[in-house]
Amino acid sequence: MATVLAVANQKGGVAKTTTVASLGAALSALGRRVLVVDLDPQGCLTFSLGHNPDKLEQSVHEVLVGGVETKDVLLGTAEGMSLLPATIDLAGAEAMLLMKPGREYTLKRALASVEDDYDVVIIDCPPSLGVLTLNGLTAARSVLVPLQCETLAHRGVGQLLRTVNEVKEITNPDLELLGALPTLYDSRTTHSRDVLADVSDRYDLPVLAPPVPRTVRFAEASASGATVLAGRKNKGAEAYRALSENLLRYWSGEAELETFETAVA
Ligand code: ADP
Ligand code: MG
Repeated sequence: MATVLAVANQKGGVAKTTTVASLGAALSALGRRVLVVDLDPQGCLTFSLGHNPDKLEQSVHEVLVGGVETKDVLLGTAEGMSLLPATIDLAGAEAMLLMKPGREYTLKRALASVEDDYDVVIIDCPPSLGVLTLNGLTAARSVLVPLQCETLAHRGVGQLLRTVNEVKEITNPDLELLGALPTLYDSRTTHSRDVLADVSDRYDLPVLAPPVPRTVRFAEASASGATVLAGRKNKGAEAYRALSENLLRYWSGEAELETFETAVA
């Protein structure tokens, strides 16, 4: 059975999509069979992995509301992972799902048919706490919350954690909140670190290691249809490689999750 990880934060621009693509590429490079799922109608994950959402006939939308089989929609990517793509049609899925009984379980059921082909499934949630994100959280075993290390990063975190707790109570008791992943991290000042300490204290939320540094390589990579893992050696790729190893050690039961506190101590 695959380990299913949801990457969620209702704030946009915190590096959810970047994290899904980079972590997926890092896990693929380590020999894991990876499926990444684009749950955002904007289709940024789909686009950044080399597929133009405007040119796709079918996407996760048809799987969720059209009865199309998941395996018939999957696409390949340059770095080896499979992609369940999104198109703008998915924007209509929220309303259509609302009318379905068991609507929160739709993605979980759709993934069940392909899950055995993968070691890890990573879900890119949209920037909202609507039905699509509830589907992502219900299908997942773990959830990771990317957090941009800037003032006011904590705004909305309380609401997200309440949603995670409600999902645990109602649709997915086994869901585990792994913690926050610091993104766009600037190690040259103490500001990023102060923001993290504040969020971690306020919400008693583990902060995972290593933080992902801010580097222009990410923008360059997504424009080229590949991830930062594909290019020359760089700090961003190193961070996601280390995070993927951290997660694999944890999932295999070998070690505790390495957190920011233990890493900088
Ligand atoms: P989200 O999915 O949360 O909206 P994205 O992954 O699309 O966020 O990232 C938002 C923007 O930030 C993108 O342009 C992306 O290339 C850029 N970005 C992400 N991570 C980093 C980073 N570590 N350093 C610099 N830019 C980054
Ligand atoms: Mg995104």
